[in-house]
Amino acid sequence: MSKTLNLVSKEVSECTKCSLAADRKQPVFGTGSVNADLMLIGEGPGAEEDRLGVPFVGRSGKLLDTLLLEEMNIDRSLCYISNVVKCRPPENRDPKAEEVEACSPYLKKQLEIIEPKVIVTLGNFATRLLLDTKIGITELRGKLYQYLGFTLIPTFHPAAALRGRAGVIENMRADLRKAKEIING
Ligand code: URA
Ligand code: SF4
Repeated sequence: MSKTLNLVSKEVSECTKCSLAADRKQPVFGTGSVNADLMLIGEGPGAEEDRLGVPFVGRSGKLLDTLLLEEMNIDRSLCYISNVVKCRPPENRDPKAEEVEACSPYLKKQLEIIEPKVIVTLGNFATRLLLDTKIGITELRGKLYQYLGFTLIPTFHPAAALRGRAGVIENMRADLRKAKEIING
């Protein structure tokens, strides 16, 4: 990890800025390469992530790994992966607005340090936070956006694909192919 990223990680490891600190086993800061061209942003840690301290290691993560490999030909270690909130919401409930707000400076710092070519937001929480909107992912996806000067591609959360809604996985595949195209520019 880079020195600056390490400093932010240390801050997060001791953070008690919101009520999610109470029930977590550990914060899940993020993993991958500081030189990543692609940064993937999810919602928040689930049970497995909370236990292991690594993002996207449960069922959603397995699907994400498969899609990255099949559509972009890359392993997760070449990307950087993190979440909107770093601590697990109890019972996997949605993060509250005040929790998202308290945690978002960490994500912003991660983005500024990593400077990815492309950000892919996974689902409503990450997409709405970065695009500062209340519009839903179904309506937002399929277009390119900008965040802090980085290209942002919103896509569905892998959990939505696992629920089997028609078309979700095909759209995720198309969005990742688009990301690859831009990165390889
Ligand atoms: N879902 C998320 O949004 N993030 C994770 O890290 C795991 C599951
Ligand atoms: Fe701190 Fe974020 Fe964890 Fe809340 S979710 S305690 S703001 S690291």
